[in-house]
Amino acid sequence: MNEIYLDYNASAPCDPRVADAVTKAMTDGFGNASSAHRFGRRQAAAVSEAREQVAALVGGAPGGVVFTAGATEANNLALGGFAPASHGSQPDTTPMLVVSAVEHASVSRAAEAFAATGRCKYRTAAVTPGGFVDVDALAGLLTETGYPVMVSVMAANSETGVLNPIEEVAQLVHQAGALFHCDATQMVGRLPFDMSALGCDLVSLSGHKICGPTGVGALVGTREALAALHPTLWGGGHERGLRSGSLNVAGIVGLGVAAELAADEQETESERVGALRDRFVDSLIDALPAVDQNGDIERRLPNTANLHFAGTDSDAVLVNMDPVAASAGSACSTGAIEPSPVLTSMGLSREAAFESVRFSLGRFTTSSEIAVAAEKVVTAVRYVRLMTTEAA
Ligand code: PMP
Repeated sequence: MNEIYLDYNASAPCDPRVADAVTKAMTDGFGNASSAHRFGRRQAAAVSEAREQVAALVGGAPGGVVFTAGATEANNLALGGFAPASHGSQPDTTPMLVVSAVEHASVSRAAEAFAATGRCKYRTAAVTPGGFVDVDALAGLLTETGYPVMVSVMAANSETGVLNPIEEVAQLVHQAGALFHCDATQMVGRLPFDMSALGCDLVSLSGHKICGPTGVGALVGTREALAALHPTLWGGGHERGLRSGSLNVAGIVGLGVAAELAADEQETESERVGALRDRFVDSLIDALPAVDQNGDIERRLPNTANLHFAGTDSDAVLVNMDPVAASAGSACSTGAIEPSPVLTSMGLSREAAFESVRFSLGRFTTSSEIAVAAEKVVTAVRYVRLMTTEAA
């Protein structure tokens, strides 16, 4: 049975070239990267190289890279590190975080949690039916009462692949005197992303979305933005004092190599993967009635398609298309199955969200896999529709 993996946005397979570099780092190198002796210095040199590789991928400065345990931690450090004391010059106003309605939970729930402590308020900026942030709504929020301290808008959405107008958002945010954080976890390595050209102050990314290791990522910031942050973890003062803890050298080396490969290969890879994605979607639309694409298809990642198969439960489709792997438009939230907040915030009904499936392709997806996957999905959707009609 040939398994077919179309869930790269959840976690991409590790590239064997990255795995080799990680293994080598673990077997050849040891010692604490903070130690002054030669073993430590070798580890520190490996970390420095990774800093350059990661910075080059996002158009940042190597000195602005803060290694974390992934994008969840990077997002929490950006928002939580900023909320506590940045309003010192404005004692009578409560600082405000503004996040878009389609952020990953590590941004939206972090904003909620920091607001619950009373350290800040937070507001959510609506998105259009196409799934990108509504720039007018955002501009309105930035002029509301409260002192906006930070705005967080992701580069590309994990569920729909829809791209946000990052440059425009960055300009608005800066006009309002706030800092701009961009969770670029899904965009980097898939499309060119240059934080200084776009005007981002802080950028989050993660190893396992770019065919690197899971559990390692980075927050990359400008000097000014990082200087405004407070640590969310205290200890030995690693990573500019912002992220204490002995460095995960092997993971960081893996992230660096993954970043370098992504920078070198993203253009050709995205072209190839985009053609496969389009062929896949076309064959489903040709074979099946009532299939819609969620999100603006003119502005999305080349590897992602979020499809609404009317009249089917997405979990039933996923089970019936096994061994093809993709993701449903639902999420388990506090024990209950809820429709994806990303899809409902774009105006999809709960029902339509429950009937939607995300397919995400990547570096190792082949043309023959796509042909087999399309057949499996068509059969599964037909079967689930038949069962649903018969049960009614
Ligand atoms: N942000 C986005 C947009 C994501 O897609 C993800 C992973 N699903 C994260 C943050 C969290 O990344 P990590 O798994 O590295 O914590």
